[in-house]
Amino acid sequence: MSRLPSQMPAEPVMSTAKILASEQVSPSFQRVTVGGAGLGGYQWRGFDQWFRLFLPAPGADLTLPTVSGRAWFRSYLSIPKDRRPHCANYTAADFRPDGAAPEMDINVVLHWDHDGKLGGRVAEWAVSAEVGSPLGLLDQGVMFNPPPQTGSFLLVAEQTGLPAVRGILRDLPANARGTAVIELPTEQDVAWFTSSVTIPAEMSIHCVYPQSPGDTPGAAALAKLQTLPAPEPDAYAFIVGESHLAAGGRRTLRRLGLDKDRICFKGFWRHHPHKP
Ligand SMILES: Cc1cc2nc3c(=O)[nH]c(=O)nc-3n(C[C@H](O)[C@H](O)[C@H](O)COP(=O)(O)OP(=O)(O)OC[C@H]3O[C@@H](n4cnc5c(N)ncnc54)[C@H](O)[C@@H]3O)c2cc1C
Repeated sequence: MSRLPSQMPAEPVMSTAKILASEQVSPSFQRVTVGGAGLGGYQWRGFDQWFRLFLPAPGADLTLPTVSGRAWFRSYLSIPKDRRPHCANYTAADFRPDGAAPEMDINVVLHWDHDGKLGGRVAEWAVSAEVGSPLGLLDQGVMFNPPPQTGSFLLVAEQTGLPAVRGILRDLPANARGTAVIELPTEQDVAWFTSSVTIPAEMSIHCVYPQSPGDTPGAAALAKLQTLPAPEPDAYAFIVGESHLAAGGRRTLRRLGLDKDRICFKGFWRHHPHKP
């Protein structure tokens, strides 16, 4: 690869934006488009670039923490609770820098609690998005950082990691080769994903589905990973999503002999089984 993305910036930039649009693009994804002049300082690196999303506290104006170098959390906690913004981690799914008003898409997973209610503060925000309402975004850079001598790629994700893997597939060189294992809830989600990005011809994509509705998200992706041949020693693996998938995927690849420096893994959230 000629272009290696850097990792977390030393001086992450806090940007502000407003909601421009929100659209359900498939059964499990809501695409929220945000933009405005406040995004002008956002340094787009592509791949799996992610950020801390700040949403106004209910009934309050948006109050953002002060950022000093990489530090922001202490300032965040010092904001009185009734004004403290909700904070969550999201991937910059697409970015259009053109013009005076740049735009970013955020692909938010829609997940439902066992009682059929939409789960998660950000999913609620995404589906009830009010055009013009403000948000803050603190850039956290990219995690995907293959060593220069990388022969092939192994990308593994469940739905929350799909925006990251989709961004990597979009930004890899056209001659990149390897495998991606992606677990999504429905065939319509897969159809949207594959139609939304140009995938390098030599990346083979395995899309898998949960076996039953109560399964831990990512279990089918982990099972598929365990059937694949051992990666070549110069492969680079990127495994993200539910914590069991990230940790189990790393364990599997270590057992198969892949060097730990060639495995990037991160649990994006933790599944808690429903206890009736
Ligand atoms: C680097 C990074 C990038 C991420 N990028 C994205 C992204 O682009 N799109 C995206 O949708 N998510 C993404 N996530 C995951 C997201 O941060 C979590 O799903 C987070 O819990 C959502 O925040 P929230 O405040 O809405 O959830 P909360 O309100 O804190 O969570 C509510 C409950 O829902 C559960 N939950 C969270 N996600 C799911 C899920 N997918 N299925 C079932 N239950 C769930 C939580 O465990 C919790 O119990 C990313 C995470 C990281 C670390």
